Amino acid sequence: MVSAIRMGLCLFLVVCGSVRTDGASPAMSNWVSTVVTDNGQLAVKGTQLVNQKGEPVVLRGVSFGWSNWWSQFYNDGAVGWLVNDWHCTVIRASMGVGPQGSYLDRPEWSKKLITTVVDAAIKNDVYVIIDWHDHNAHQRTDEAVAFFTEMAKRYGDCPNVIYEIYNEPVEVSWDEVKKYSNVVISAIRKIDPDNIILVGTPHWDQDIHLAADAPIENQNNLMYSLHFYADTHKQSLRDRADYALKKGLPLFISEYGGCAANGDGPLNLEEWENWVRWMEANKISSVVWSISSKDETCSMLPPEAKNNGNWPPETLKPSGRQTRDLLRKYNASSGKTIDEPKSVSKGEMLANGGFSEGKKNWTVDQAQGAEAEVVINKEGPKGASAFRMDVVDVGEEPWNLQLYQGNLKVREDQEYRLTFWVKSNYEGTIKVICMQNHEPWEHSTEQEVLVSEQWKKKEFTFSGPWNDENARITFTDLATDDDRVYWFAKVSFQPVVSQK
Ligand code: MG
Repeated sequence: MVSAIRMGLCLFLVVCGSVRTDGASPAMSNWVSTVVTDNGQLAVKGTQLVNQKGEPVVLRGVSFGWSNWWSQFYNDGAVGWLVNDWHCTVIRASMGVGPQGSYLDRPEWSKKLITTVVDAAIKNDVYVIIDWHDHNAHQRTDEAVAFFTEMAKRYGDCPNVIYEIYNEPVEVSWDEVKKYSNVVISAIRKIDPDNIILVGTPHWDQDIHLAADAPIENQNNLMYSLHFYADTHKQSLRDRADYALKKGLPLFISEYGGCAANGDGPLNLEEWENWVRWMEANKISSVVWSISSKDETCSMLPPEAKNNGNWPPETLKPSGRQTRDLLRKYNASSGKTIDEPKSVSKGEMLANGGFSEGKKNWTVDQAQGAEAEVVINKEGPKGASAFRMDVVDVGEEPWNLQLYQGNLKVREDQEYRLTFWVKSNYEGTIKVICMQNHEPWEHSTEQEVLVSEQWKKKEFTFSGPWNDENARITFTDLATDDDRVYWFAKVSFQPVVSQK
């Protein structure tokens, strides 16, 4: 048994030693999206959005606000939160084009915001809409062509991406919108033959009947944007949408709200519910406006919302709470819940880390003839209790003398911090390891500790690559010289609490 321990430890000292650096925040929900993995490249069949197997897909998510005004939310953390906590399966990045300080003034800055969100969406396995958020797009076709050409080159092979080429044409004819759309669609299709393209319709994306009567021809995988605000647009717009569907027009609700069309006023939950029922019955994808903290009803975040997610659900504005509830209800099957992690120990995990109870809970391992004398005294910093070890015989290998404490529960997705004070009677190096206290003696990493004649406080963090009910902290390589003395004091081992 003893020799097996030594062999195991020795092997792992050679083989292991990597430190996990991909620590996901343990504060986040354990739901992850699998929607793109499950559905892959999207297409349009009849009026229906379908997956790579030709089966219907319904995406549900949220839209960021205008990038020029709400740039602070265009980051990785916010996207991760919208997926893991809100259960979005699609995110819309709305690049402001016309207003001062938006794309036309600051193209590189604006593009960076969009690609940050797109890349984060890809990382989180959700679909993402690149929205040319412009009410006058038909007046600047060249700019749109240049932008979407660049996006198609960058993301055309990526099944996650959907292009929305014209957000809400206003007082402009369907012919004008169609002319513009044909040019932009052709530019995208030169590079990307298949990703979904959303085409705007006149009058803030409500005149879908005009598109239904004269749709764009000879193009594939197009859908037409329908936008509604539930307190303004009611059954008559749903009737119009039914008409469009009957005529074979594929619809995608790339933006909607539960309030009035100006984004404000009371939420109309009854009409919102009517719309949800209609969308679900017709298997139509939808995106709620918006992730912003403006003082208006449709803006879902409170003014104090952090930039990078971590929004406690109870602090969301009513439109945000309602949206989150709906997404969590209807998107449940588009992701999976990772197994509940084992409970995390909180606070101090060591027993008798300060040696106030003598040697209790600590073990000195003496192997292959190594030997040490141990005493607990008050030679610690400022008279604290200290564990003093006098090496008498070094045995055969440095690790033949160890001091450890076991029975520690560690979790694989949790980081731990070890702190202690140490000194020796001369300068040298020892090691400290967090490892299994049983076969196969896996350990996460080993850390070198410089010791000297001065008391020094040391601090190390460890991430275990395993869940374990019986791990240990081990001070090792103590058997180097037979006149060496070590003192240890104030040893502490605690989970690192995530910063929220
Ligand atoms: Mg493609």
